[in-house]
Amino acid sequence: MKITEAPYYRHIGQEAEVFEHAFRNKLPLLLKGPTGTGKSRFVEYMAWKLERHLITVACHEETSATDLIGRYIIKGAETVWQDGPLTRAVKEGAIIYLDEIAEARPDIIVAVHSLTDYRRILYIDKLGTELVADDNFMLVASFNPGYQKGFKELKPSTRQRFVSLSFNYPEEKTEREILVNEAGLDEPTAKKLINIGNKIRNLTELGLTETVSTRLLVDAGKLIQSGLPKRLAVKSAVVEPLSDDEETLEALTDLANLMI
Ligand code: ADP
Repeated sequence: MKITEAPYYRHIGQEAEVFEHAFRNKLPLLLKGPTGTGKSRFVEYMAWKLERHLITVACHEETSATDLIGRYIIKGAETVWQDGPLTRAVKEGAIIYLDEIAEARPDIIVAVHSLTDYRRILYIDKLGTELVADDNFMLVASFNPGYQKGFKELKPSTRQRFVSLSFNYPEEKTEREILVNEAGLDEPTAKKLINIGNKIRNLTELGLTETVSTRLLVDAGKLIQSGLPKRLAVKSAVVEPLSDDEETLEALTDLANLMI
């Protein structure tokens, strides 16, 4: 995908500089952090800035090396080889973004191994060939360290192959700016949403696997902007996605209703 218009991205620190230097030095990059904290948006922004095509793969438990590298497919009476997204990125000099890399099958770690060091080679076993990556190829992956139970780990030996950046929930002023820009909210409503977000983020005793991300607040903001009553917007976009437990939902709804 060629990104023609600058995506809105609110810089948090010096992450753009780190990305740019990693790119120039042909180093792979790992973005760590909970879901909804701007990792994908950041990669889109950087692809635009560096004028590279971006190929995104949303990894899930069935994603295998074959999905990334390519496979033979049947076309009419013939079988033809079809490059996977990683092979295309390696050839074209694109940025490939493996979103939630730890979710995928372990064989994809093996597949990217030789691309993450100085060799920058992709082995295509099924074709018996190897490809040297284009100078502009870059591998970016994201990983949710999962401070709480239930998330998959990434081995230290794999992590050490990547230059890494941490993402987290932004501080209030920054998050407000994001909400105003992304959802078109007025400042006071944005502030109220963020207060709700921060309150829930601090309720560690609820044992939520994931808490309120900036994404959820942006979504609530969009619903409010399009005319949905505020309480209903917060319930649907912020509270409901967090849990399926009735008591928890009730407690969170009461809390949110008091705050908006
Ligand atoms: P992740 O990839 O970490 O799951 P995303 O990049 O998809 O998260 O971000 C989710 C949403 O949150 C974005 O669509 C955007 O609306 C908003 N967002 C979060 N952080 C930022 C940021 N720094 N700048 C702009 N938008 C942001």
